[in-house]
Amino acid sequence: MQRRSFLKSATAATIFGSFPRHILAGIGAKGKQQRIAFGGIGIECSTYSRIRTRTEDFEILKGDALASSERFAFLKKYPVPFIPTIVAEAEPGGPVEKATYDAIKDEFLAELQALLPLDGLYLPMHGAMFVEGMQDAEGDWMEAVRKVVGPDCLLSASYDLHGNVSHRVIDNIDMFSAFRTAPHIDKEETMQRACNMLLYCLDQHIRPSLAWAPIPVLMPGERSSTQWQPGKRLWAQLAKLNESPGILDVSLLVGYVWADEPRSTACAVVTGIAPDTEKKIAVDLAQQYWDARREFQFGAETGTIDECIERAMKAATHPAILADSGDNPTGGGTGDRAEVLEELLRYKAQSVVFAGIIDRPATDECYKAGVGAALPLSIGATLDPLGSKPVHVNAKVIFLLPASTPRLREAVVQIEGVTLVLAARRRPYHDIADFSRLGLQPASFKMIVVKSGYLSPELAPLANPSLLALSDGAINQDIVHLPKNRLRKPSYPFVEDLTYTPRAITSARSPA
Ligand SMILES: [Zn+2]
Repeated sequence: MQRRSFLKSATAATIFGSFPRHILAGIGAKGKQQRIAFGGIGIECSTYSRIRTRTEDFEILKGDALASSERFAFLKKYPVPFIPTIVAEAEPGGPVEKATYDAIKDEFLAELQALLPLDGLYLPMHGAMFVEGMQDAEGDWMEAVRKVVGPDCLLSASYDLHGNVSHRVIDNIDMFSAFRTAPHIDKEETMQRACNMLLYCLDQHIRPSLAWAPIPVLMPGERSSTQWQPGKRLWAQLAKLNESPGILDVSLLVGYVWADEPRSTACAVVTGIAPDTEKKIAVDLAQQYWDARREFQFGAETGTIDECIERAMKAATHPAILADSGDNPTGGGTGDRAEVLEELLRYKAQSVVFAGIIDRPATDECYKAGVGAALPLSIGATLDPLGSKPVHVNAKVIFLLPASTPRLREAVVQIEGVTLVLAARRRPYHDIADFSRLGLQPASFKMIVVKSGYLSPELAPLANPSLLALSDGAINQDIVHLPKNRLRKPSYPFVEDLTYTPRAITSARSPA
């Protein structure tokens, strides 16, 4: 077997660019070729959604396709091979159908079984999955993985900062890393932190411990972005704290509010080889987050749909961007609601581009009619007919995206002053390219409507003004009035007069 100490290699500085210096200084232990695999499942599920996520909604990458995927290209920079298994990812949405979850999990576990013995496993996860009839789905996943790989294999997980952590998750893994930005611009950096830790601990024969401090606060992402206060200062300190002696990773999570589950909370998670320091950092962060709970506010002007349309139309500047927040598919919204379209038409709004409404039947009708055709359309409420009502309009087809399958179809129609994008499958329109490939220049319109929460890094600089419509949907921002608040533990703002003393829980696998 090849012996190596890869951390000593000339490329270590680039690979571990963000790795704490005090740890790198201690490098040099004898190593061996490690067997490391990677795989996981990622989705964010609103328990308020009536739609279900099924196998066809997941992009499932395996083997060579996974190894050569752009998302995991960074793994090739490591001097140790990461063996691909299965990575399943889906757009945020409704609960995962139990049979779908079971099938993906069984296949993943079988892959791991075939690769045994494994020294390490990297788990790229989201953390806010909800499976029909199950609570704490990621806990179930981690526990099942641990049973297969055994007690000696080191598990390192990366999460979205909108993931929900649980005792079961913490007790089955060894390392944890979560995004530090919302909007998420540090996805790859976070995955690298998780892999760096894993390699370091394998090389040094260390089994680290985790300190987890749940915080009884639940905020929507739209009030807890890291681009404004208090999120900005809370997350800005993590990199510095990460340099503390004996600390491998410091993470702070908002959690996912649209999941009515006992595990749904914000939390701090610290990984390291210094349990007392880990606990202290976790408790300090939890206290700071708790103390800041009343500061969390929306980062844009808010209002009802009508109010936001009126403000946009009367604005002296343009383009105004209206975010239809309750139906945002990147937060778990369905994406098929047409209330904003109905109000735009009632207002007789002009120079509006709306991208887009998910409506497979209306999209297909446009393809059947062809560019230039005028036709009556029923738009909206096709995925969740109980959630909203369709709007009946006369539309003219102005663009049809060439598509290899009907599922990938997207049509642009003109309805009075509104240029509307219709899509056959659930998807967001958050990048400029999402518009330009449909022949649309969003900045040339007076108003842009997107189904979004906080705006994406590409759209945010365009917004003049930025308006967040507090619309209805599977991720309604009026969280304290959500219809099912049965299973969540008491948390702010659901309970206003809560008292809280932070406490950090050490993971069960901690060597201490
Ligand atoms: Zn997120």
